[in-house]
Amino acid sequence: MSKIISATDARLNRYSTELSIDELLSPKIQKIIKDMSRIANINTAGRRQNPDKSTLVGLAAPQIGKNVRIILVDVGVKVGKRFTEPNIKFFINPEIIYSSATENLYREGCYSTDNICGAVYRSDSVKISALDENGKSFMFKSANKMQARILQHEIDHLNGIRFPARVRDQAHLHIVTAGENVEYRKRWENWTKIYPIENWIKIHNGNGE
Ligand SMILES: [Zn+2]
Repeated sequence: MSKIISATDARLNRYSTELSIDELLSPKIQKIIKDMSRIANINTAGRRQNPDKSTLVGLAAPQIGKNVRIILVDVGVKVGKRFTEPNIKFFINPEIIYSSATENLYREGCYSTDNICGAVYRSDSVKISALDENGKSFMFKSANKMQARILQHEIDHLNGIRFPARVRDQAHLHIVTAGENVEYRKRWENWTKIYPIENWIKIHNGNGE
């Protein structure tokens, strides 16, 4: 059974491969899609599998050790509205066909960076072309900055890039331990616990595995 792999796993640094429609419809790839839903806490009806747990706002296949171009994004997410009903959408072979020159700085975390969070610049809006899980192509325009951010973060995973590589100021890479998440959401702009970039480079290069 697939699960989220360790932050030191080299598969997180790889360029993931594109899928043909035949490959996408194969049992092997459909199984990855099902596994990603389960890990994101989504059932087949698109609802929370475990009602007491939140759902993931985004997940990329490499995070479960599969180097194929599949991401899922909760397109229902808005800033400050974390616990609404999920609206999960799969993007296969997603391509950013437009990204706005205007950017915003906001906090990010990731299931593949351990206890590191950071403040990252992302384009305010993006336009994506992709296939859905049935192989149908579609265009998607981000409805808000948060959605645009999640899409950029997840697509980065398909190119072997995690958010610490996008941090432009070393003081923007932060240590946030499990008990500090709520506090971090409020005070990320003034967070003083800086995560040393050298430690990130060790994790990235797979030290400790
Ligand atoms: Zn991530």
